[in-house]
Amino acid sequence: MTSTAPTTAAPREWRLAARPTGWPTREDFELATSLLPELAEGQIRVRNEVLSVDPYMRGRMSAAKSYAAPYVVGEAMTGAAVGVVEQSRAERFKPGDHVLHGLGWREVAIIDAAEARVVDVEAAPASAYLGVLGMTGLTAYAGLTRIARLHEGDVVFISGAAGAVGGAAGQIAKVLGASLVIGSAGSPEKVRHLIDDLGFDAAFSYRNRPVAEALREVAPEGIDVYFDNVGGDHLEAAIGSLRLGGRIAVCGMISVYNNTEPAPGPRNLARLIQTRGRIEGFLVGDHYDLAGEYAARAAGWLADGSLSLRETSVDGFENTLEAFLGLLRGDNTGKMVVRL
Ligand code: NDP
Repeated sequence: MTSTAPTTAAPREWRLAARPTGWPTREDFELATSLLPELAEGQIRVRNEVLSVDPYMRGRMSAAKSYAAPYVVGEAMTGAAVGVVEQSRAERFKPGDHVLHGLGWREVAIIDAAEARVVDVEAAPASAYLGVLGMTGLTAYAGLTRIARLHEGDVVFISGAAGAVGGAAGQIAKVLGASLVIGSAGSPEKVRHLIDDLGFDAAFSYRNRPVAEALREVAPEGIDVYFDNVGGDHLEAAIGSLRLGGRIAVCGMISVYNNTEPAPGPRNLARLIQTRGRIEGFLVGDHYDLAGEYAARAAGWLADGSLSLRETSVDGFENTLEAFLGLLRGDNTGKMVVRL
């Protein structure tokens, strides 16, 4: 990686320098000076204030065909961000507006007006629009209500529970009437956070014992819903604990994102027959019709304390890559963001 000294006034951007094999390394990225075009009619110039780093970005660093186009080697990467409009040639925006848009991984972005949306930073902090009031919150809501078809009284298990989606999913499951909400996470501190701060009924760390054993202990009667953020042995354990008519919403499989060989599948899929269980993957992008409904309910839940705004922030644009790698390692509790 080449680093540009952060003293220059010229705005900078993170580019993909090479496609990572396995875990990404610093050499796969370049911190470079942006070459910004003149502002055209209908565009705004935005100085980013807070950037999102998300697990799906790892997929876009690979060439493999996926739901989102791969990042282009040699070009700046993209991702959600909130920034302030510095200059506007678009009717709907004025300097000083805060906007949510998709040109993160850079300090300054030139954006077509249609690609940006004003957000109210008086109503909630800018970073909330990247997390619980944004894509990750909606992912949790759509996964639970539409894919897992959560019913009142369900026993719900959530992996990656101390992360952005998982933490929101646990709190939303509770408020929607789950009888028991169980979470797994990667450290004793995160387990305590799930119980003490987020109101999970039970939680365990997946690092010190087999997931199947830990899950059976906290849910001896089994589970009705599994919200999967992790895949691997978590998925196999959930299938093993599924009750009659159980539903599994496959949101993510972060345990395999850096694999160089395909991971073996769950060995107990046949259990879906006897339980009449259902397993369904989903993408939040197919459920934006729920965004208005979710925003209204989430605002109420935030106001009455059923939903909290936990996040981990890393300061400094030059640390964006470290924040992303930290996210993959599990350094974050709640949404991982970068403050510029
Ligand atoms: P998180 O905030 O949950 O951050 C990722 C977390 O994953 C880490 O904090 C770490 O926590 C955990 N993790 C990393 N490696 C492993 C592993 N090998 N086994 C178990 N846990 C691991 O990220 P998000 O909330 O943004 O995303 C969560 C999941 O949801 C991801 O799989 C993501 O791809 C998916 N997603 C899917 C969407 C969709 O539309 N389907 C939309 C958004 C996200 P820990 O310390 O507990 O290990």
